[in-house]
Amino acid sequence: MNIENSVVVITGAGQGLGQMMAVTLAQMGAQLALIDVNTAGLRKTQDQCHMLNSMARIYEADVTNEAEVEQAFLNIMEDFEHIDTLINNAGILDDGLLVQKSQTGTSKMSLEQFQTVMDVNVTGTFLCGREAAKWMIENETKGVIINISSAARAGNIGQTNYAASKAAVTTMAVGWARELGQYGIRVAAIAPGLIDTPMAMQINGDKLEQMLSMVPLARLGEPTEIAHSVRYIIENDYFTGRVLEIDGGLRL
Ligand code: NAD
Repeated sequence: MNIENSVVVITGAGQGLGQMMAVTLAQMGAQLALIDVNTAGLRKTQDQCHMLNSMARIYEADVTNEAEVEQAFLNIMEDFEHIDTLINNAGILDDGLLVQKSQTGTSKMSLEQFQTVMDVNVTGTFLCGREAAKWMIENETKGVIINISSAARAGNIGQTNYAASKAAVTTMAVGWARELGQYGIRVAAIAPGLIDTPMAMQINGDKLEQMLSMVPLARLGEPTEIAHSVRYIIENDYFTGRVLEIDGGLRL
Protein backbone atom coordinates (compact mmCIF):
# COMPACT_ATOMS: atom_id res chain seq x y z
CA MET A 1 0.00 0.00 0.00
CA ASN A 2 1.12 3.50 -0.74
CA ILE A 3 1.48 5.48 2.49
CA GLU A 4 1.02 8.88 0.84
CA ASN A 5 -2.57 10.14 1.38
CA SER A 6 -3.56 6.89 3.13
CA VAL A 7 -5.56 7.11 6.38
CA VAL A 8 -3.75 5.64 9.39
CA VAL A 9 -5.33 5.20 12.83
CA ILE A 10 -2.82 4.94 15.69
CA THR A 11 -3.81 4.11 19.28
CA GLY A 12 -1.61 5.29 22.14
CA ALA A 13 -0.42 8.13 19.90
CA GLY A 14 0.12 10.62 22.74
CA GLN A 15 3.78 9.73 23.36
CA GLY A 16 6.51 7.16 22.81
CA LEU A 17 6.27 4.76 19.89
CA GLY A 18 2.80 5.90 18.80
CA GLN A 19 3.98 9.49 18.52
CA MET A 20 7.07 8.49 16.51
CA MET A 21 4.96 6.32 14.17
CA ALA A 22 2.62 9.30 13.58
CA VAL A 23 5.48 11.68 12.78
CA THR A 24 7.21 9.15 10.50
CA LEU A 25 4.01 8.46 8.54
CA ALA A 26 3.16 12.19 8.42
CA GLN A 27 6.56 12.79 6.81
CA MET A 28 5.48 10.34 4.12
CA GLY A 29 2.21 12.17 3.49
CA ALA A 30 -0.21 9.97 5.48
CA GLN A 31 -3.39 11.37 7.05
CA LEU A 32 -3.58 10.50 10.73
CA ALA A 33 -6.33 9.66 13.22
CA LEU A 34 -4.72 9.71 16.64
CA ILE A 35 -6.33 7.94 19.63
CA ASP A 36 -5.22 8.15 23.28
CA VAL A 37 -6.52 8.91 26.77
CA ASN A 38 -3.84 11.58 27.11
CA THR A 39 -5.26 14.69 25.44
CA ALA A 40 -2.19 16.87 26.04
CA GLY A 41 0.00 14.19 24.44
CA LEU A 42 -2.39 13.88 21.51
CA ARG A 43 -2.22 17.65 20.92
CA LYS A 44 1.60 17.53 20.86
CA THR A 45 1.58 14.70 18.31
CA GLN A 46 -1.03 16.54 16.23
CA ASP A 47 1.09 19.73 16.27
CA GLN A 48 4.13 17.78 15.06
CA CYS A 49 2.08 16.25 12.22
CA HIS A 50 0.64 19.64 11.27
CA MET A 51 4.16 21.09 11.05
CA LEU A 52 4.78 18.41 8.42
CA ASN A 53 1.63 19.56 6.55
CA SER A 54 -0.18 16.32 7.34
CA MET A 55 -3.88 16.21 8.17
CA ALA A 56 -4.04 14.86 11.72
CA ARG A 57 -7.11 14.65 13.98
CA ILE A 58 -7.30 13.58 17.59
CA TYR A 59 -9.84 11.31 19.29
CA GLU A 60 -9.76 11.05 23.07
CA ALA A 61 -10.87 7.49 23.86
CA ASP A 62 -10.03 4.72 26.30
CA VAL A 63 -9.35 1.63 24.20
CA THR A 64 -10.84 -0.62 26.91
CA ASN A 65 -14.23 1.09 26.64
CA GLU A 66 -16.42 -0.43 23.90
CA ALA A 67 -18.72 2.59 23.53
CA GLU A 68 -15.81 5.05 23.36
CA VAL A 69 -13.97 2.94 20.79
CA GLU A 70 -17.07 2.52 18.60
CA GLN A 71 -17.75 6.27 18.77
CA ALA A 72 -14.13 7.16 17.99
CA PHE A 73 -14.19 4.96 14.87
CA LEU A 74 -17.54 6.43 13.81
CA ASN A 75 -16.04 9.91 14.16
CA ILE A 76 -12.95 8.85 12.21
CA MET A 77 -15.16 7.50 9.42
CA GLU A 78 -17.08 10.78 9.32
CA ASP A 79 -13.85 12.79 9.15
CA PHE A 80 -11.82 10.62 6.75
CA GLU A 81 -14.49 8.42 5.01
CA HIS A 82 -12.32 5.29 5.14
CA ILE A 83 -9.50 3.65 7.12
CA ASP A 84 -6.46 2.12 5.38
CA THR A 85 -4.33 1.14 8.37
CA LEU A 86 -4.84 0.60 12.11
CA ILE A 87 -1.86 0.38 14.44
CA ASN A 88 -2.90 -1.20 17.76
CA ASN A 89 -0.14 0.41 19.80
CA ALA A 90 -1.74 1.55 23.12
CA GLY A 91 -0.32 -0.54 25.94
CA ILE A 92 0.67 -0.47 29.59
CA LEU A 93 3.03 -2.27 31.98
CA ASP A 94 2.45 -3.08 35.64
CA ASP A 95 5.18 -5.52 36.63
CA GLY A 96 5.32 -7.70 39.71
CA LEU A 97 6.17 -11.24 40.72
CA LEU A 98 3.38 -13.80 40.74
CA VAL A 99 4.17 -14.53 44.39
CA GLN A 100 6.89 -12.83 46.41
CA LYS A 101 8.25 -14.15 49.67
CA SER A 102 9.73 -11.70 52.17
CA GLN A 103 10.51 -11.64 55.91
CA THR A 104 7.01 -10.36 56.59
CA GLY A 105 5.21 -13.05 54.56
CA THR A 106 4.18 -13.57 50.96
CA SER A 107 2.53 -11.12 48.59
CA LYS A 108 0.75 -11.90 45.33
CA MET A 109 0.17 -10.16 42.02
CA SER A 110 -3.35 -8.81 42.50
CA LEU A 111 -6.21 -9.77 40.22
CA GLU A 112 -6.64 -6.06 39.45
CA GLN A 113 -2.96 -5.75 38.44
CA PHE A 114 -3.41 -8.73 36.11
CA GLN A 115 -6.71 -7.64 34.63
CA THR A 116 -5.84 -3.96 34.11
CA VAL A 117 -2.90 -4.84 31.87
CA MET A 118 -4.89 -7.52 30.02
CA ASP A 119 -7.71 -5.05 29.51
CA VAL A 120 -5.67 -2.27 27.88
CA ASN A 121 -3.34 -4.53 25.90
CA VAL A 122 -5.73 -7.32 24.86
CA THR A 123 -9.29 -5.96 25.09
CA GLY A 124 -8.13 -2.65 23.61
CA THR A 125 -6.52 -4.43 20.66
CA PHE A 126 -9.63 -6.58 20.19
CA LEU A 127 -12.05 -3.63 20.25
CA CYS A 128 -10.03 -1.40 17.90
CA GLY A 129 -9.16 -4.31 15.58
CA ARG A 130 -12.82 -5.27 15.39
CA GLU A 131 -13.96 -1.72 14.49
CA ALA A 132 -11.21 -1.25 11.91
CA ALA A 133 -11.98 -4.63 10.28
CA LYS A 134 -15.70 -3.85 10.22
CA TRP A 135 -15.21 -0.53 8.41
CA MET A 136 -12.57 -1.97 6.06
CA ILE A 137 -14.90 -4.85 5.09
CA GLU A 138 -17.95 -2.57 4.68
CA ASN A 139 -15.97 -0.16 2.48
CA GLU A 140 -14.10 -2.93 0.66
CA THR A 141 -10.79 -1.38 1.72
CA LYS A 142 -7.81 -3.72 1.39
CA GLY A 143 -6.38 -2.43 4.64
CA VAL A 144 -3.65 -3.30 7.11
CA ILE A 145 -3.82 -3.96 10.86
CA ILE A 146 -0.62 -4.00 12.92
CA ASN A 147 -0.63 -5.20 16.54
CA ILE A 148 2.28 -4.03 18.67
CA SER A 149 3.44 -7.04 20.67
CA SER A 150 6.73 -7.36 22.60
CA ALA A 151 9.76 -9.60 23.00
CA ALA A 152 8.19 -10.27 26.43
CA ARG A 153 5.58 -12.47 24.75
CA ALA A 154 7.96 -15.40 25.25
CA GLY A 155 7.49 -15.08 29.05
CA ASN A 156 9.44 -12.85 31.44
CA ILE A 157 10.02 -12.92 35.17
CA GLY A 158 7.75 -10.34 36.84
CA GLN A 159 5.58 -9.88 33.75
CA THR A 160 2.83 -12.51 34.06
CA ASN A 161 0.24 -9.97 32.95
CA TYR A 162 2.27 -8.12 30.30
CA ALA A 163 3.82 -11.24 28.72
CA ALA A 164 0.45 -13.01 28.53
CA SER A 165 -1.11 -9.91 26.95
CA LYS A 166 1.62 -9.64 24.32
CA ALA A 167 1.36 -13.35 23.46
CA ALA A 168 -2.38 -12.77 23.00
CA VAL A 169 -2.03 -9.80 20.64
CA THR A 170 0.46 -11.76 18.52
CA THR A 171 -1.91 -14.71 18.26
CA MET A 172 -4.79 -12.39 17.38
CA ALA A 173 -2.72 -10.96 14.52
CA VAL A 174 -2.12 -14.46 13.12
CA GLY A 175 -5.78 -15.48 13.49
CA TRP A 176 -7.00 -12.23 11.94
CA ALA A 177 -4.57 -12.64 9.02
CA ARG A 178 -6.19 -16.01 8.29
CA GLU A 179 -9.73 -14.72 8.83
CA LEU A 180 -9.48 -11.40 6.98
CA GLY A 181 -7.22 -12.41 4.08
CA GLN A 182 -10.32 -13.18 2.00
CA TYR A 183 -11.13 -9.42 2.05
CA GLY A 184 -7.58 -8.47 1.08
CA ILE A 185 -6.94 -7.22 4.63
CA ARG A 186 -3.43 -7.92 5.93
CA VAL A 187 -2.62 -8.27 9.63
CA ALA A 188 0.79 -8.49 11.23
CA ALA A 189 2.57 -7.87 14.52
CA ILE A 190 5.77 -6.17 15.60
CA ALA A 191 7.58 -7.45 18.69
CA PRO A 192 9.96 -4.73 19.87
CA GLY A 193 12.68 -5.38 22.42
CA LEU A 194 13.73 -2.61 24.78
CA ILE A 195 13.00 0.71 23.10
CA ASP A 196 13.86 4.15 24.43
CA THR A 197 10.39 5.50 25.39
CA PRO A 198 8.73 6.63 28.65
CA MET A 199 7.50 3.02 29.11
CA ALA A 200 11.02 1.58 29.15
CA MET A 201 12.02 4.29 31.63
CA GLN A 202 9.43 2.87 34.08
CA ILE A 203 11.61 -0.24 34.47
CA ASN A 204 13.88 0.17 37.48
CA GLY A 205 17.52 1.02 36.70
CA ASP A 206 19.13 -2.25 37.86
CA LYS A 207 16.57 -4.38 36.07
CA LEU A 208 16.95 -2.33 32.88
CA GLU A 209 20.76 -2.76 33.02
CA GLN A 210 20.32 -6.50 33.55
CA MET A 211 17.92 -6.74 30.59
CA LEU A 212 20.25 -4.69 28.39
CA SER A 213 23.11 -7.08 29.20
CA MET A 214 21.11 -9.75 27.31
CA VAL A 215 20.88 -7.63 24.14
CA PRO A 216 23.64 -8.56 21.65
CA LEU A 217 23.61 -5.01 20.23
CA ALA A 218 23.99 -3.73 23.84
CA ARG A 219 21.75 -0.70 23.52
CA LEU A 220 18.12 0.37 23.65
CA GLY A 221 16.30 0.51 20.33
CA GLU A 222 15.19 3.86 18.94
CA PRO A 223 11.48 4.62 18.35
CA THR A 224 12.41 5.39 14.71
CA GLU A 225 13.53 1.76 14.33
CA ILE A 226 10.02 0.56 15.21
CA ALA A 227 8.37 3.20 13.01
CA HIS A 228 10.58 1.93 10.16
CA SER A 229 9.05 -1.56 10.60
CA VAL A 230 5.54 -0.10 10.50
CA ARG A 231 6.41 1.45 7.12
CA TYR A 232 7.79 -1.87 5.89
CA ILE A 233 4.59 -3.76 6.79
CA ILE A 234 2.27 -1.14 5.28
CA GLU A 235 4.25 -0.96 2.04
CA ASN A 236 4.80 -4.71 1.51
CA ASP A 237 1.56 -6.05 0.02
CA TYR A 238 2.57 -9.71 0.42
CA PHE A 239 3.37 -9.48 4.15
CA THR A 240 0.69 -10.91 6.45
CA GLY A 241 0.30 -13.14 9.51
CA ARG A 242 3.92 -12.71 10.60
CA VAL A 243 5.73 -11.11 13.50
CA LEU A 244 8.65 -8.76 12.96
CA GLU A 245 11.05 -9.02 15.90
CA ILE A 246 12.92 -5.73 16.29
CA ASP A 247 14.89 -6.34 19.45
CA GLY A 248 18.64 -5.97 18.87
CA GLY A 249 18.89 -9.76 19.08
CA LEU A 250 17.34 -10.06 22.57
CA ARG A 251 15.48 -13.26 21.67
CA LEU A 252 18.33 -15.03 19.83
P1 NAD B 1 4.25 4.66 26.37
O1 NAD B 1 3.85 4.36 27.77
O2 NAD B 1 5.35 5.63 26.14
O3 NAD B 1 2.96 5.09 25.51
C1 NAD B 1 1.78 4.37 25.56
C2 NAD B 1 0.61 5.27 25.19
O4 NAD B 1 -0.59 4.50 25.31
C3 NAD B 1 0.46 6.48 26.12
O5 NAD B 1 0.33 7.66 25.35
C4 NAD B 1 -0.80 6.16 26.89
O6 NAD B 1 -1.54 7.32 27.31
C5 NAD B 1 -1.59 5.32 25.91
N1 NAD B 1 -2.60 4.50 26.58
C6 NAD B 1 -2.46 3.77 27.72
N2 NAD B 1 -3.63 3.24 28.09
C7 NAD B 1 -4.54 3.63 27.17
C8 NAD B 1 -5.93 3.40 27.02
N3 NAD B 1 -6.63 2.66 27.90
N4 NAD B 1 -6.57 3.94 25.96
C9 NAD B 1 -5.89 4.72 25.06
N5 NAD B 1 -4.56 4.98 25.16
C10 NAD B 1 -3.91 4.44 26.21
O7 NAD B 1 4.62 3.24 25.73
P2 NAD B 1 5.52 2.91 24.43
O8 NAD B 1 6.85 2.48 24.90
O9 NAD B 1 5.38 3.97 23.42
O10 NAD B 1 4.77 1.58 23.98
C11 NAD B 1 3.88 1.52 22.88
C12 NAD B 1 3.56 0.06 22.64
O11 NAD B 1 4.78 -0.66 22.38
C13 NAD B 1 2.90 -0.65 23.83
O12 NAD B 1 1.93 -1.55 23.37
C14 NAD B 1 4.06 -1.39 24.46
O13 NAD B 1 3.62 -2.52 25.18
C15 NAD B 1 4.87 -1.77 23.23
N6 NAD B 1 6.27 -2.07 23.52
C16 NAD B 1 7.09 -1.11 24.03
C17 NAD B 1 8.43 -1.44 24.30
C18 NAD B 1 9.41 -0.45 24.86
O14 NAD B 1 10.51 -0.87 25.24
N7 NAD B 1 9.10 0.83 24.92
C19 NAD B 1 8.89 -2.74 24.05
C20 NAD B 1 8.02 -3.67 23.53
C21 NAD B 1 6.70 -3.32 23.26
